[in-house]
Amino acid sequence: MATTMERPAAGQAGTVAEHHLFIDGAWRAAGSGKTFEVRNPATGAVLARCADGGRDEVRQAIQAADAAFAGWSKTPALARAQLLSKAAALMNERVDELARILTQENGKPLSESVAETQVAAAFLQWNAEEARRIYGEVVPGAAADRRVLTIKQPVGVVAAITPWNFPTSMVTRKVGPALAAGCTIVFRPARATPLVAVAIFKIFEEAGFPKGVVNLITGTNSAEMGDEMATNPLVRKLTFTGSTEVGKELLAKCAGTVKRVSLELGGHAPFIVFEDADLEKAAQAVVTSRFRNAGQTCICTNRLYAQRSIAQQLAHKVAELTGKLKVGNGLEGDTQVGPLIDERGFKKVEEHVKDAVAKGGTVLAGGQPFLTPEGQNGTSGQNGLNGWFYQPTVIGNATPDMLVMHEETFGPVLPIMEFETEEEVIRMANDTPFGLAAYFFSRDVGRVFRVAEGLEYGIVGANDPLPTGPHIPFGGLKESGLGRENGSHGIDDFVEVKAISIGI
Ligand code: NAD
Repeated sequence: MATTMERPAAGQAGTVAEHHLFIDGAWRAAGSGKTFEVRNPATGAVLARCADGGRDEVRQAIQAADAAFAGWSKTPALARAQLLSKAAALMNERVDELARILTQENGKPLSESVAETQVAAAFLQWNAEEARRIYGEVVPGAAADRRVLTIKQPVGVVAAITPWNFPTSMVTRKVGPALAAGCTIVFRPARATPLVAVAIFKIFEEAGFPKGVVNLITGTNSAEMGDEMATNPLVRKLTFTGSTEVGKELLAKCAGTVKRVSLELGGHAPFIVFEDADLEKAAQAVVTSRFRNAGQTCICTNRLYAQRSIAQQLAHKVAELTGKLKVGNGLEGDTQVGPLIDERGFKKVEEHVKDAVAKGGTVLAGGQPFLTPEGQNGTSGQNGLNGWFYQPTVIGNATPDMLVMHEETFGPVLPIMEFETEEEVIRMANDTPFGLAAYFFSRDVGRVFRVAEGLEYGIVGANDPLPTGPHIPFGGLKESGLGRENGSHGIDDFVEVKAISIGI
């Protein structure tokens, strides 16, 4: 039974729910009594208020998780799996409700929210199944009177920090493997999107996880909360998804107590289309990959490389498809592209487009802010929109010196650059400190293998714009991260291997 306290927030016109922190199996306010508001980025409406936890609350949650670890780590894997399956089933029962919350706080179209919620439930189910398969080994001994075996044990208390762009799937991608492995967890969602995390933690409570096993801290002071998680010696593992800049900072802090660290960081995905590709499919795939979540996806295509002989034709098709995308409030059924999360995100998009045009780029689609009928972003419109929207944009004649070609835009802008040869394009695609996802289209089977092997990226989509799922390892090379989530290796980062040598 969910016991979250919800009451109207003081001082609000109308009533909005107020959500608390979940620590040691109980919902409670922040010690300071402070709360912060959560707004819909498409309309500006206040959706709810959340408790503004800080260092003290993170510390209390870590202590609760540490106290719960002894019991949870000894709970049989099958029992842990049953609770995870139950939580997955509850999420599946409530897909529509959870998807609506997600669209309201993040802005993405409802269809994307439904898909994300289903995938998020599948992450829990996958990890429930993997929990039963955390096997050890028997190792041949070096002497006749020795037997050697290995066992896998949970690392201990896990701290998790996530961004706002996939607020639902990020919860289960981190909590799922941690709990499956026998770890306890303290989870901190992004400041902009805590509401769906609250709803999922109510599900965890309802599923019946013992107190202290899962803890949720919402709050605005990211640096303070992150510092406590990264330096508290009771935390044995930090798992972070977000920008490379913050990831590096946390990695350095974790060195002080030699924590295990998993990092899913920024990307700058190339998408290569060779002249032998199916151009219709390739064009559609580029548009799907670039404009999903208004381009605010870590594995979104950032730059398109088109082989010279088909470049004009491909650019035309891509621009045509892009120009038809419907921008608006994600709750409206036909919306395909929502708002940027905030003004900062919008300004970066604007800067990248202006820079590209100044350096000789040609606008083939979009190229401007998406104006509400009143003609202004960030102000209230008759159509109810009040957010930071930008037109889905395609820029031709791109060159490597443009910001959009080497910095993560995190918005709906696609630059197109031409190339001549396979060797040249692999070199250009790899010329970045990032290494998360890369895509290419070709019907030549030899090329498919050569290019897939040559791309220095953790995830490669060959004729596939969506190469992710619970069964597929997810993670980056170079400055895009450390470790892998999902797949059969996803739990490895949450366990330690212990060698036991027995004299007989
Ligand atoms: P961000 O790094 O600013 O924030 C991520 C999270 O860290 C948020 O919860 C934020 O509040 C928190 N945070 C911010 N500063 C912190 C600090 N000093 N200490 C501790 N925590 C801090 O990133 P963002 O703008 O929210 O998300 C976008 C970035 O995330 C992009 O770079 C994107 O590529 C990346 N991302 C990566 C993946 C992946 O799996 N590789 C997935 C999604 C997003």
